Amino acid sequence: MCVMIRRLALPIWLFLGSSSLLFARAPAPLELLVLGSGGPGAAGRAASSYLIFIDGDARILVDAGPGSFARLGEAKASLSDTDIVLLTHLHIDHVGEIPGLFKARAVSASGPIVFNVWGPTGSPGKGEDAYFPSTRELLRLLFGPKGAFAYLNDFAAPITLHGHDIPASFEHAAPLEILKQDGLRVTAIAGHHGDAPSVIYRIEHSGKSVTFSGDIDAQGLPALRSIAKSTDLLVFNTVVLDPPGSPAILYSLHTPPHAIGELAKDAGVHGLLLSHISPAIDANRDAVLASIRQSYAGPVTVAKDGLRLQP
Ligand SMILES: [Zn+2]
Ligand SMILES: [Zn+2]
Repeated sequence: MCVMIRRLALPIWLFLGSSSLLFARAPAPLELLVLGSGGPGAAGRAASSYLIFIDGDARILVDAGPGSFARLGEAKASLSDTDIVLLTHLHIDHVGEIPGLFKARAVSASGPIVFNVWGPTGSPGKGEDAYFPSTRELLRLLFGPKGAFAYLNDFAAPITLHGHDIPASFEHAAPLEILKQDGLRVTAIAGHHGDAPSVIYRIEHSGKSVTFSGDIDAQGLPALRSIAKSTDLLVFNTVVLDPPGSPAILYSLHTPPHAIGELAKDAGVHGLLLSHISPAIDANRDAVLASIRQSYAGPVTVAKDGLRLQP
């Protein structure tokens, strides 16, 4: 157990009257730390990355976008308890910091590390579509015996990586349980993000849940509606303005605010966290929130790097 994390999980001491009685708040069953709330452009936010604390321990890393390494340190958080990595898709703004974060994990260890890494299957790159490796192949290219960073496997601590490819074909329409362990449950379903194989994740613990849309276009919304049903917090990647406010090509990759509001209402989510914020969204924040409000009446928060939320 990392002492620093423990201290972070117990941030409030209450002093009652002159008796100076001290009460520590128990760690939340589920807490989200935003490491990166931005997208691919270098506009002041780190790219997509989140840390999920389970009973106060930073167990799960969701995406590993560039800049998240610095945000991890600024938040005085540590990956020393992290053993689960969930990748929504393999665009650089979601996985480009994997080597840096894995090395940070390696040097924070006091013993052998076992990482379970989930992400989408690959794509052969037919026609106009881009090629993507599978998640297992990405790990092999980075950390395999002939990988770019093969040295890391035994640098600071022995690392065992277990890669898991989640079927990301569009026909795979039912949520899949990928992890069930001591009350922690993670389910996944294929999303849709242009030609990039993508996965939507839902994390549940002690009756609380958080769901990550990943980058998602209109074709992925039925899957998101199904897996996000009644979730406590839906982290929705918010990149484009309502049409025609953004370049047409972006609507084949992302979901505009009016559709975000409609989905949040239809799925009965208890709270929305807008993240993966583009400069266009930052510049038109009031209009974006007003558009979502036309359908969805629940709480809406705009993410920023370093934000902590308890679903
Ligand atoms: Zn992205
Ligand atoms: Zn993307």
